[in-house]
Amino acid sequence: MKMSSLLVPTMKEDPAQITDPGLTAMIRRGYASFSNDGNRLSLLPLGVISMNRLLKLLRKNLMNMSFQPVSSSLAYDGGISIGRGVIQSYRHLPFLLFEENNGEILLAGYSLDFYTAEEELKNLWKKLDILVTGIGIEVFSWKDVSLSGQRYVLGVKSDKGYYCSKKGLACLNSNCGWHGTAESFIPFTEYPNPSPGEMKEAHTPGIKTIADLCSFLDIKPYQSVKTMLFIPSSEKGSIVAVLVRGDRNVNETKLAAHLGVTDVRPATSQEIADSLGDVEGFLGPAGLPENILIVADKSVEGASDVIIGANKKDFHLRGACWGRDFHVHSMADLSNLEAGDKCPRCGNQLKDTHFTSLCEFYLKVGPKSRINDITYLDESNDSVPAAFWKGMIHPVSFMMASFRQKGSLSSLLAPFHALVTVPSMKNNEASNLAERIMETLEKQGCSALLDDREMRGGVKFADAEILDLPFTIVVGRGASEGKVELWLGKGKREEVDVDLALEIVTKNP
Ligand SMILES: [Zn+2]
Repeated sequence: MKMSSLLVPTMKEDPAQITDPGLTAMIRRGYASFSNDGNRLSLLPLGVISMNRLLKLLRKNLMNMSFQPVSSSLAYDGGISIGRGVIQSYRHLPFLLFEENNGEILLAGYSLDFYTAEEELKNLWKKLDILVTGIGIEVFSWKDVSLSGQRYVLGVKSDKGYYCSKKGLACLNSNCGWHGTAESFIPFTEYPNPSPGEMKEAHTPGIKTIADLCSFLDIKPYQSVKTMLFIPSSEKGSIVAVLVRGDRNVNETKLAAHLGVTDVRPATSQEIADSLGDVEGFLGPAGLPENILIVADKSVEGASDVIIGANKKDFHLRGACWGRDFHVHSMADLSNLEAGDKCPRCGNQLKDTHFTSLCEFYLKVGPKSRINDITYLDESNDSVPAAFWKGMIHPVSFMMASFRQKGSLSSLLAPFHALVTVPSMKNNEASNLAERIMETLEKQGCSALLDDREMRGGVKFADAEILDLPFTIVVGRGASEGKVELWLGKGKREEVDVDLALEIVTKNP
C-alpha cells in the first residue's frame, strides 16, 4: 500500500489534554483521532487495519474453542432464538456463540448446569489469558460480583483518567500480583471475639456513628455491628436491614445481587423514622419488626460480645451474640473490599488502583443461572433448563493496552510488517528499487507500506520513527549499489544488501 493515498496524520508532539499514554501513542502515530467532548475514539486507517488483524486472530481462536459466529442475535436475545432450535439434548451442550457488534465481541454460552458452566468459563478465561499474553500484553484476571452474576475479568493496569479506566484494588506484594475490585470476594475470617458475655443496655446519648461509639465506650470498630437500612429498587415499601461489622462498609452491588434486584439505595432519615421511629444511629438487629428482612455480611457471622444498636434513642446493647440475641434471614459476602484490607490471595495489604477491562463474562449463581427459554433432555430423558452465561471482549482495549505497555503494537497486530521509505523520490534508482522491494514483499505475503510521498527526507524519517513498524527499509543513496538501511526496532540500524534485508524481513513474521 502507498502512504501517499493513506490517511496517516502523525503528530510531532503529544496531543494536548490527554493523559493516557496508550491513547497518546495511538493519536501521535495516526491510528486514531479523539474528541474530548464526547470522549469519542475514532479509528483511522492504520487503526482499522490493526483492528482487522486483531479481530481475525480473536475470531480464529474463538472458533478453535468451538464458538459459532452469528449476527444480530446475541445483542437482541442472547442467542435464544438460535439455541432453541438446536439444543435438544445434553449432547448439544456446551453451545457457544459469538457476534461482532459495534466494535465489541459479544459472547454467549449454554451449558448443562451452573457447575459445568463455571468450569467451561474458567477454561475460556485461561485460553484468553494465554492469547492476550501471546500478543505481548501483560494481563491479570479475577472473579468478583456484579448485578449480572459472578463476573470473570481479564484486565490490564490503568490509571485515573485513562480511557475506559475503572477503580480497582491491587496487592502491595508485587510477587503476589492479585488484582480485583471492591466487589471481589472476601475470604471468610473468624470472628475475633470468642467469649460471649451477657447482653446489657448501654446509655449512649447522641452517639450515632461508629467512630463516636468507639471513643465513647473505648472499643475497636470490629467489636461493633452496624445495622443499615436499604430500599431495593423494585420492591416498593419494603426495607432490608443489613448487618455489617463496624469496620466494614456495605457494597450496594453485592447487596443488590444477593437480593436479586437491579438496584438498592440507603433508606432516608424520613423512611427510617416512618418505619421505626426516632432511632436513626441506634438501629440494631435485635427486636426489629418481623416484616423487615435482615441480611448479614459474612463479617458478622458468629459475632460474639459485640455492641449493637438498641432500636431505642440514645441506647446501644453490649455483649450481643449472633444466634442468641439476634437472628438473620440470610447471609452473604456483602461488604466492600477496600484499600488496607488483607489480600484475598496472600494476606498482604491492598492498595487502590485502576484497571481497564479487556474482557468479562457473567454467570448467575446456582439455580439462577438456568434459563427457562432453553431446555434439553438430560441422560435420564428429563427436560432440564440449560445454564446460560454471557460475555464481552473489548478489542479496542487490547490495542490501547499494547500501546500503553510497550509504546507500540506487537508484530501480531502491527498494521504493516514493514515500512519502505524513500528519503528522496527524485532519486529514480531509489524509488524504482523501493517499488521492487514492495512487490517482492507482497509476493511473499508480507504486508508493507511504501512511503512514496514527495516530502523532505527529514519529515519521512521522523514519520518512520513515529510509526515504529516492526521493520523499516530505507532506500536511499546506496540504492545504486543494491544497499539499503534496515531498521530492526529498538534503534538498531544496519546497512545491508537488499537481498539480505528482504530475507530478514520475510523470515521474521
Ligand atoms: Zn496478595
